[in-house]
Amino acid sequence: MEHPTYCPDRFRYQRRASRQVHIGTLTLGGDAPIRLQSMTTTDTMDIAGTVEQSIRMIEAGCELVRITAPSKREAAALGQIKAELTARGHGHIPVVADIHFTPNAAEVAADHVEKVRVNPGNYADKKKFEDIAYTDASYAAELERIRAKFSPLVLKCKDLGRAMRIGTNHGSLSDRIMSRFGDTAEGMVESALEFLRICREHDYHDVVISMKSSNPQVMVHAYRLLVARMDAEGMNYPLHLGVTEAGDGEDGRIKSAVGIGTLLEDGLGDTVRVSLTEAPEAEIPVARKLVERYANRTQAAVPQADSGDWDPFTYRRRVAREVANIGGKHVPVVVHTLAGDEPLTPARLYGCGYRYSVPLDKWNLDDLACDYVYVSEQEVDFELPGTLNVVQDWRAWKGRARHVPLIDAADFMNELAWTVDRVFVSAQTHDLLNPAFLTRLVNVPQAVLVLGTTAEHAMADLRAACWRLDAAGCSVPVIWRRAYATEDAETFQLHAATDFGGLLLDGMGDGVWPEAAAMSLQVRNSTAFGILQATRTRISKTEYISCPSCGRTLFDLQETTAKIRAVTSHLKGIKIGIMGCIVNGPGEMADADYGYVGTGPGVITLYKEREVVQRNVPESEAVDALIELIRQHGDWVEAVASEHNEAEG
Ligand code: SF4
Repeated sequence: MEHPTYCPDRFRYQRRASRQVHIGTLTLGGDAPIRLQSMTTTDTMDIAGTVEQSIRMIEAGCELVRITAPSKREAAALGQIKAELTARGHGHIPVVADIHFTPNAAEVAADHVEKVRVNPGNYADKKKFEDIAYTDASYAAELERIRAKFSPLVLKCKDLGRAMRIGTNHGSLSDRIMSRFGDTAEGMVESALEFLRICREHDYHDVVISMKSSNPQVMVHAYRLLVARMDAEGMNYPLHLGVTEAGDGEDGRIKSAVGIGTLLEDGLGDTVRVSLTEAPEAEIPVARKLVERYANRTQAAVPQADSGDWDPFTYRRRVAREVANIGGKHVPVVVHTLAGDEPLTPARLYGCGYRYSVPLDKWNLDDLACDYVYVSEQEVDFELPGTLNVVQDWRAWKGRARHVPLIDAADFMNELAWTVDRVFVSAQTHDLLNPAFLTRLVNVPQAVLVLGTTAEHAMADLRAACWRLDAAGCSVPVIWRRAYATEDAETFQLHAATDFGGLLLDGMGDGVWPEAAAMSLQVRNSTAFGILQATRTRISKTEYISCPSCGRTLFDLQETTAKIRAVTSHLKGIKIGIMGCIVNGPGEMADADYGYVGTGPGVITLYKEREVVQRNVPESEAVDALIELIRQHGDWVEAVASEHNEAEG
């Protein structure tokens, strides 16, 4: 089945040709560079504090500053903030008013700032989590009501030359959209299109669109579908990319890169906001590292392949035959290079999740214990932990238990007598252009393909290679192997998360093997598991859906997130939402299992999924109450004390 296209070219890097929008003096979309932006976290009524924070963001490279306007009062205060920023020499940086639930505040804000962001999920609708049965006639009447409510802002923005973002959030779809389309990418897209059609009716086009979700897979599907639907309706509005509530630290960076990077690889995206639960100025270097990779991306095409029935709008894992613990229904494996001149000792496995206790003479595994280590030609002369396998160059391989030979493509074509349960075949994408090699992969059922590429447009090349395997009827499991030359850990995390994450989100890949000579094994390992977690292909830790905070925030989000993380980080597979306000928090934390939401100064409301279970808990008692709630629902386990100190040195 032919699926609609969602990007200019799946084999050659090319930015989607979007319409250029003017935001004050800043251009966005078209041939303008991909713009970087962030949002203040101060109370908007703290004019001086908001101005100072905005300047810190601008000095970090922020090209648009978004500020929340929960009511008309804050919307009016944006005028003072804008004036002060102008007086301090930053008048050319557009200010964006962030609006939820308050159309009247939006109209006031349009008087003062260059752009207004509205959320179609709550601009004209209140959220009551109701399931409403609509007929076509009653749905059309609802659209008419929205038209009446939204048109004044559209006309005002048009008159004043203001821009607008129609920003859909997966977690805050209206009851109307949820009732009609469900909790789907299609619902997200339709939610924006309803508002967009009203803009077009009024011949107003300075509009940017976003489709955010805290789940990168949902977010990627929604943006792709949005582009396909806009194309069908003859629209080419620019895209603002973001993963909401991505969290903090390494997890927040990896989750953001998986979603944003996957889209950038296909040429989608005209502006980026990375939402971290950190100071807003810390978001800008991360956004820059994501975006600058494409400034000089080669225009050379990678070899084309027939994508068959691959569906860019729906997740489906590629069917790979089972080879030992790889492929089939197994979660993707993690492989690391341990080669080097140093002798192999149990202590060297510490960085990939294995701790050897000398007094107890036993191995302890943590949740991030890798599956394979590659030792080149070295020998392992100690007893391996039970779940670990060793990959050895095939000429040094002696057939020992849990040792797997690694052979290159040329030798694989010649070497015939395999009596092993698995053999790793190291190849580059160009090897798959050889039909004889493909046939050999089909005919050696123990083969696992370890695939890399020398192409700069790597994700597209590896994706096409997967299509080529499928077209040849070859169900060999595939481990992605890629080496990074960077010495910067953050760049390594962002690039690996983009390259591997984009493939895994599309259901491709049965393992990851990230290499980076300058990165410790610990960094490589946590990055690999972080990518698998963010793509939800292998869950090995607690997931935190924490908002980046804004002027509505009712507690110190960074400190609280750290406090909650410290006591719950061992709860593998549990999703905890930590949200700054009751207005947007409950909706935005979408699929969290437990929620910790600011209700008022010093008080928290706790949720089990979308149900309120305890209101107005004093903040000082709220973390303990959250633990108790998790315990009551049977999801609590005691943390196992670390035996790090006992690791052999
Ligand atoms: S959930 Fe967080 S970022 Fe979103 S509006 Fe509330 S406080 Fe602001």
